[in-house]
Amino acid sequence: MLLSVVVPVFNEEQAVNILISRIREALRGFDWRLLFVDDGSTDETLNIIHGTALDDNRIQVLSFSRNFGHQAAVTAGLDFANGDAVIVMDADLQDPPELLPEMVRLFEQGYDVVSPQRICRRGETWLKRTTATIFYRTMATMVGSRLTPEVGDFRLFSRRAVLAIRSFREQHRFMRGLVGWLGLREAILPFERQPRAAGETKYPMLKMLRFAWTAVASFSALPLRLSIAAGILLSCAGFGYLFYVLYLALFTNILVPGWASVVVLQCIFSGMILLALGAIGDYVGRNYEESKGRPLYVVENAFNIMPPESDIVRATILDGATVRNSSVYGTRGMDASNVVADIEEHRAVNSLRF
Ligand code: UDP
Ligand code: MG
Repeated sequence: MLLSVVVPVFNEEQAVNILISRIREALRGFDWRLLFVDDGSTDETLNIIHGTALDDNRIQVLSFSRNFGHQAAVTAGLDFANGDAVIVMDADLQDPPELLPEMVRLFEQGYDVVSPQRICRRGETWLKRTTATIFYRTMATMVGSRLTPEVGDFRLFSRRAVLAIRSFREQHRFMRGLVGWLGLREAILPFERQPRAAGETKYPMLKMLRFAWTAVASFSALPLRLSIAAGILLSCAGFGYLFYVLYLALFTNILVPGWASVVVLQCIFSGMILLALGAIGDYVGRNYEESKGRPLYVVENAFNIMPPESDIVRATILDGATVRNSSVYGTRGMDASNVVADIEEHRAVNSLRF
């Protein structure tokens, strides 16, 4: 059985070496490939992983032309990974590689998805933990029970699950939602999330909120429906007030004070209308971007990677980024000079770009 491990990386120069050695250790005795998807790193990450890929052709590298985001990097990894089972994990060792053999064992029992579930999150701030809890609760109402709580993108997929996920080519992606939507047979494996081994989180608060909104908007039209509910509620309140004013004017001597209530109502209604328009605008905007059908990512270079089994829809693989495989040039010792030249040329290109 071949196991592919997909790791999206963005400026993780301090973490990748530790990750590689821990994966090597954890997967001793397995037939494995480690596929790094470099999401436009601007530090030494790409050079480091290229260096190790040169020594070990089980390490594969795909590099994007710029930063396309974590979800796009995971998508590319799943498009190119050719294992019988594919595991997606972060580069920062928050997801412990030591869990991989246990995940494979569950896969061999016939599960299509194996989802490690965080029972505690070490080294994460109170704010991150609280927002994450709110996020999972909100998503549970929006997407329904199909979303497994406290499960991130660290997961194992069977070959057929990977093929199924590949068929989703939407621009605004929320992988966890897609996996839940498919409804595959899933095993849950509780684990303790570790603190980051090195470096900073690439998901600061604002980016996380944007991601949460993408998740909501790509899985549910509930925010739009909420504005209908709010509209009905406010209209009812307005009519109630109207009857009250009519009553005061016709049956009592009280003079109805006018402008204060008008200002209040005006503010409430304008606010609600703008909010609803904003939500509609956001959905229309997403629709517009989707209708352009642009690629989800652009691959600038690939190394130690087999050509994809079938055409990849909505992805651009730049000319010259031909899927290079060190075994094509001969294994190390036979004609490694080609590969070295190749890598040197690649480094030169990249250092120009950086
Ligand atoms: N990442 C990426 N592109 C991005 C942001 C992050 O490929 O634009 C990678 C990052 O290198 C890491 C993984 O995605 O391997 C998860 O990011 P991070 O650990 O910063 O997120 P957190 O665990 O803090 O939510
Ligand atoms: Mg992380």
